[in-house]
Amino acid sequence: MNINILIQKGAKILRNKFIKSAQLDSEILMAKVLERDRKYVILNSDKVVHQNHLSDFKKLIKERSNRKPIAQIIKKKFFWNSEFLINKYTLIPRPDTELIVESALKFSKNRNELNILDIGVGSGCILLSILKERKKFYGTGIDISRDCLNITKLNAINLNLSSRLRLYKSNVDKFNIGKYDLIVSNPPYIDKLNLRYLEKDVVGFEPRQALYGGLDGLSEIRKVIKKSSELIKKNGKLILEIGFDQKNRVIKILKKKGFYINSTQKDLAKNDRCIVCTKIT
Ligand code: GLN
Repeated sequence: MNINILIQKGAKILRNKFIKSAQLDSEILMAKVLERDRKYVILNSDKVVHQNHLSDFKKLIKERSNRKPIAQIIKKKFFWNSEFLINKYTLIPRPDTELIVESALKFSKNRNELNILDIGVGSGCILLSILKERKKFYGTGIDISRDCLNITKLNAINLNLSSRLRLYKSNVDKFNIGKYDLIVSNPPYIDKLNLRYLEKDVVGFEPRQALYGGLDGLSEIRKVIKKSSELIKKNGKLILEIGFDQKNRVIKILKKKGFYINSTQKDLAKNDRCIVCTKIT
């Protein structure tokens, strides 16, 4: 059987499982099996697929039809300007989170040697994307998961950024090293009710630790704001990702801790998703 026929068969299986991106997913999985990119499989659709590859492809289609996210199957995800390794311990980088990178780059255009802290660094996608664009900035990443820190480290090596990065395994409450010009964080913020409505791809496969923010979704955000207010330099910036219905509640917490709200940003679905603020008192 040739590449195209197999891709169509794979896509059909996924479509029957109501996976919306069936065609795309099938193409990506074929590319993975052949160790090529998607362009190759599209341009060589009439090439015959070897028997060994056939069973590999079937296996991957099966995994996807059980809702395992594509990024976890191929173990990587493109974010901002780079490809990041991911695993089952890291949240899969989302386009929404690029708002943090965009906001950080905007405010730091003419700045030199900023010290940045990423609380809950995960795969490293936010911090490393900023460091890659600002050659004189230094980054510190903390996470409670050693598995995440290992992945961040690999990503830093791949992007040639490890000399400007320090990583610590730590709880947000317990971390007390350094003072920062910029703090970024995409903390877990899904509340108990909304956790039940997440798609199976997310809730069944991504780390609960990176998603669940307690009963009201704000318990980790509160800790991040408290810790940031202690570790941030005067006039330093905090850029936070938040849940779609948390803007007003988070602004209230921020003001109480001495932050001035510079702006809030909406994601592609027009939900409030990112807050930029400055520590003024
Ligand atoms: N935006 C993610 C989702 O809705 C959640 C990320 C997070 O909790 N930080 O799946």
